[in-house]
Amino acid sequence: MLRNDQLDQWDHDHFFHPSTHLGQFARGEVKNRIITGGEGVHITDRDGNRLLDAFAGLYCVNVGYGRQEIAEAIAEQARELAYYHAYVGHGTEASVTLAKMIIDRAPDNMSRVYFGQSGSDANETNIKLVWYYNNILGRPEKKKIISRWRGYHGSGLMTGSLTGLDLFHKKFDLPLSQVLHTEAPYFYRRADLNQSEAEFVAHCVSELEAMIEREGADTIAAFIGEPVLGTGGIVPPPAGYWEAIQKVLKKHDILLIADEVVTGFGRLGTMFGSTHYGIEPDIITIAKGLTSAYAPLSGSIVSKGVWDVLERGTDENGPIGHGWTYSAHPIGAAAGVANLKLIDKLDLVTNAGENGAYLNKSMKEALADLPHVGDVRGEGMLCAVELVADRDDRTFFDASKKVAPAIAAAMAKRNVIARAMPQGDIIGYAPPFCLTRDEADTVVAATADAIREVLG
Ligand code: PMP
Repeated sequence: MLRNDQLDQWDHDHFFHPSTHLGQFARGEVKNRIITGGEGVHITDRDGNRLLDAFAGLYCVNVGYGRQEIAEAIAEQARELAYYHAYVGHGTEASVTLAKMIIDRAPDNMSRVYFGQSGSDANETNIKLVWYYNNILGRPEKKKIISRWRGYHGSGLMTGSLTGLDLFHKKFDLPLSQVLHTEAPYFYRRADLNQSEAEFVAHCVSELEAMIEREGADTIAAFIGEPVLGTGGIVPPPAGYWEAIQKVLKKHDILLIADEVVTGFGRLGTMFGSTHYGIEPDIITIAKGLTSAYAPLSGSIVSKGVWDVLERGTDENGPIGHGWTYSAHPIGAAAGVANLKLIDKLDLVTNAGENGAYLNKSMKEALADLPHVGDVRGEGMLCAVELVADRDDRTFFDASKKVAPAIAAAMAKRNVIARAMPQGDIIGYAPPFCLTRDEADTVVAATADAIREVLG
């Protein structure tokens, strides 16, 4: 094992950390943390700290850490056959089985699964499929993609463009020109509109309609959205939002991509967020919870309608020119099969719904009297606490105050990990589905104490 000082030196000198302030890291203002183990909802670091991970990594370790069933499945697959590609009809028992298991759990009318490695590449695939689809249908102009401000869909060129957060565009020359952003369904932040929730939904719809009118429906291919806004602030949609948006999309023959990278496989207490909100997507993005991040694997689930056009396209044009070396990687697929079996066996979707509701309720109650807590919201095993300078006027703290990072740091001192979301003073929670009520109480208590410490 490496000595700590050597590890720190190599980390400092050679490791390019993603989503990290590089200057602060180089100067030691952002400290490294080397994680060495995990069990259930806890992780341990090399200094022997045991932390309750209330964000499940990056909302991905849904079954919790240290699951031997998944580790065994990965090891067995690696011993038997670590790799073979999936081009030209190839596959493994694990990849075929996983495709079947996904379709069995997916909303109605879903047909095929295209496997990738990450949520970003799955969304890149989705946009390519949508463009291919419209080319085959003889609609070469129908290519623009509508996303929402505060949506998160990845960090690639196209997916970073779809992501509606400034940080992901700034200095990268994004967004690309084919991407349009519309109003986020973030009612709490739009007090300035002075509307009821129902009026706000109508506002979101009319913004979308105006955009379609302005651009021309024959130039717009698809709308992409997360059932619950995730990285943009963990914001469940206002009542009736998806139904109303979907109506507009159908009217204009615009495909709907439901990005279920966070919500897929149980996080909302239902297997998919689409069924939770009555969304009927044409394509669904999956990643994270597909394997609980025991191995990198993602997927694009395509509907029967989309599949028929793609299939026809290859009859006219030859094999589909889209493939990754690691598509349907056997180790990822084996992890996925074991993970979905475990979710069923332990009834973790039910637990996510029930103990998630308990977490949300306890959080609301415990923070009710704290003057800077503006909003506590969530759905299933997702929760967010939004901090405001003034609760009545709903004024937000100046970003330079970095209130949310300070609270997350104060929670870490109490051995609980929550996430300061990247835009706004929002603390996010997305624990593993196996979170118990006692553990939920620990998370809530650490939050209340940390907020008191930072904001008085
Ligand atoms: N879509 C959503 C909704 C996500 O939350 C994320 C990751 N947080 C992605 C896509 C991108 O996934 P990845 O980081 O695996 O590329």
